[in-house]
Amino acid sequence: MKIVLPALPYSYGSLEPYIDAPTMEIHHTKHHQAYINNLIAALETCPEFDSTSAQALLMDLPLVPEEIRTAVRNNAGGHYNHSLFWTIMKKNGGGEPNGLVGQAIKKTFGSFAEFQALFNARAKTVFGSGWAWLSVDANGELVLTALPNQDSPLLYNCVPIMGLDVWEHAYYLKYQNKRPEYIDAWWHVINWEQIEENYRAVIE
Ligand code: MN
Repeated sequence: MKIVLPALPYSYGSLEPYIDAPTMEIHHTKHHQAYINNLIAALETCPEFDSTSAQALLMDLPLVPEEIRTAVRNNAGGHYNHSLFWTIMKKNGGGEPNGLVGQAIKKTFGSFAEFQALFNARAKTVFGSGWAWLSVDANGELVLTALPNQDSPLLYNCVPIMGLDVWEHAYYLKYQNKRPEYIDAWWHVINWEQIEENYRAVIE
């Protein structure tokens, strides 16, 4: 399997002023590319897995040989998480979700505002590097989690439909230490149509 960096569905400057072009370019071409390079290097030592997708590797991580398991957890995770992240943002995004995911959010969390407050609290309190996630669990229910490093909800039998990268590399150039400002800005670029598609792909 050839693991390649997916092209962004928009230009690096598209998410300005909320996420700046230099951050997007470095994040995509350096950070995401590094996870891909590291995953390829790890799989070279275990060729029986080199046609397995990042998603499948993460869902069945215990089947991965112990000597590359941590490298796969971190780098298949980094590749999968960033591939999702790019698609759930867009120019002129934001607003509130309609459709099935909007209904499920209201049913699960009471209201969009309550969901947003809980998501923000998770994202703000990730200690060190990690992500805040909205996922669908094995029962089809929405669950909100924060996970460290590049750990994917797939490791816990949940399918992520939306995630926010709160590693410093995602915001430091523009926001420095002010992670809460980055989190608040990010809601202006969220792509609810894609999240609706992700949700339907899991539940339908
Ligand atoms: Mn990142």
